Amino acid sequence: MDGGEKKHRFAKWAILALAVADLFVWLALAESGRQNFTEVRFFDVGQGDAAFVQTARGTQIIIDGGPGNSVLEKLGRPMPFYDRQIDWMILSHPDGDHLSGLLAVLENYRVDNIVWSGIGKDSAECRQWETMIAEEGARIFEVSARDKFTLDGGAVVVEILSPETESAGAKEGSNNLSVVARIIHKNRAFLFTGDIDAKKEELIFRANPDLRADVLKIAHHGSKYSANEEFTAGSAVAAAVVSCGKNNRYGHPHPETLDLLEKYDIKTLRTDEDGNIVFRTDGERIFLRTEK
Ligand SMILES: [Zn+2]
Repeated sequence: MDGGEKKHRFAKWAILALAVADLFVWLALAESGRQNFTEVRFFDVGQGDAAFVQTARGTQIIIDGGPGNSVLEKLGRPMPFYDRQIDWMILSHPDGDHLSGLLAVLENYRVDNIVWSGIGKDSAECRQWETMIAEEGARIFEVSARDKFTLDGGAVVVEILSPETESAGAKEGSNNLSVVARIIHKNRAFLFTGDIDAKKEELIFRANPDLRADVLKIAHHGSKYSANEEFTAGSAVAAAVVSCGKNNRYGHPHPETLDLLEKYDIKTLRTDEDGNIVFRTDGERIFLRTEK
């Protein structure tokens, strides 16, 4: 990357300042140095989900891999070419638009820790997933609500909010058995929801009445069955991200979901329109930029 490009890219950084309650303003901001930030990146992988988190100490987490293998090219941006290792991999659920890219990542990177529900699906890809993770040599965590991981000596926490433990016996993975995870750096939190529906969001909200997040990945690509009002208002204090493909055949995101976000004045970003969506937080301020 030459200096000119770097300058141009960083000029696009903006700050999400949480002025009062749910209000925020956008201000241009110069690059503020990387080392104290957790970076959360939603990749534009078409119709699907893929996100990448790098903590201040360099711990890397990939959450879903999108369809196909475009995630490999996307990873080239935050990761230098010589870095062939990823610390944590989280699979929300074994549908192809979340899983396929992770198979490509497993083929191309060494992964140290793998987190999923343990609830598979009768598909060739899911069988491949189960074989590959068994052979990866990673620590495998089959998680459910109330599990928690601390990273960077406790500076970053990953809380699992769903599925419930009693789902463990389920034979077939489904949208509503998605792993829901909140990643917290000091006072800021990012919520990853897989493809759960509004009813499940309501249950999670009831079980966690103090649930709060600053950035919410809208569940199920903004489908009309997702985005419970209380859950959304409480967990998208600064911004919401819709991960979906351009002109996708499902009509995602649904107008009702977008109306709800507008009603609460929630800054909404879409991978189909904005490209890759990148947040950085020092645990207080949140910076945002998008890249095509
Ligand atoms: Zn999906």
